[in-house]
Amino acid sequence: MKQNIPLSFEFFPPKTAEGIANLRETRTQLAKFNPEFFSVTFGAGGSTTDRTKETVFEIQAEGYQAAPHISCISSSKEEIRTLLSAYKAKGIKRLVTLRGDVPSGEVSVGDFKYANELVSFIRQEAGDWFHLEVAAYPEFHPEALSAAKDMANFKRKVDAGADSAITQYFYNADAYFRFVDSCEADGITIPIVPGIMPIYNYTQLARFSGICGAEIPRWLRLRLEAYADDMPSLRALGIDVVSELCETLLSWGVPSLHFYTLNQAGIISKIIENLDKK
Ligand SMILES: Cc1cc2nc3c(=O)[nH]c(=O)nc-3n(C[C@H](O)[C@H](O)[C@H](O)COP(=O)(O)OP(=O)(O)OC[C@H]3O[C@@H](n4cnc5c(N)ncnc54)[C@H](O)[C@@H]3O)c2cc1C
Repeated sequence: MKQNIPLSFEFFPPKTAEGIANLRETRTQLAKFNPEFFSVTFGAGGSTTDRTKETVFEIQAEGYQAAPHISCISSSKEEIRTLLSAYKAKGIKRLVTLRGDVPSGEVSVGDFKYANELVSFIRQEAGDWFHLEVAAYPEFHPEALSAAKDMANFKRKVDAGADSAITQYFYNADAYFRFVDSCEADGITIPIVPGIMPIYNYTQLARFSGICGAEIPRWLRLRLEAYADDMPSLRALGIDVVSELCETLLSWGVPSLHFYTLNQAGIISKIIENLDKK
């Protein structure tokens, strides 16, 4: 890539043989951008533990750096300890360390309540073996009681030993810039990498954004809605908007870009190629 910006790509662990084959093809296409690592999500409560592990080990065996996500909600210390040992034994060096979403109707939250407790536990158990990524929310976490409290809670994760952070996606670059400024004012110096969500499908994006508190600006929402039945136009607009967002972030000097791939390479490849043309 012309600008030599470090990149990373996030996958979910596929369920079927077809999904596994598709992800291999996606990986081959994205590997040409020389990413720092590929990360693999984890279903809260451990619902994907085996699939996350298998996917991560396959990526690692292909010679790429693989980073499993690990969420602590509903987990015991013993379960996390076992998982850490398995990753260490395979030479995994990076983890995306999360609380996870609280499942509805959940009675027991397990041994951990928040991600900062998981970060502390991993540091106690494994010292500096793992590079620990945590989640950051430029538009604030949906459960946050206030912006100030969410910032303070983010700082707890950093103080517990996080090495860097990846943000929830956003389409308003100012939210990210202000978040990084506030972090600097609070003495937080770890890299905060913007998470980039390409626009694949409006209905899915609107639903997910509602749940995770990522705002789709009105002008963009109305334009995307107008293309609801015209996928080629929707994707072309999405590629344009997200390429411009990445360009703005790069010119501001972000440390890296982390792409939410939904296990697809086509749209992301176009966005990265657009950046190369600038
Ligand atoms: C880059 C990225 C990757 C993700 N990957 C996954 C994945 O693989 N699997 C998955 O299930 N989910 C994933 N998520 C979603 C994430 O699990 C949810 O957003 C979840 O609700 C919060 O996780 P967290 O680690 O940010 O939690 P926390 O940092 O624990 O924060 C959760 C909420 O609690 C508050 N809080 C935090 N600490 C305290 C404290 N000590 N006292 C009081 N309040 C506190 C915070 O302000 C926030 O509102 C990901 C999110 C991002 C940004």
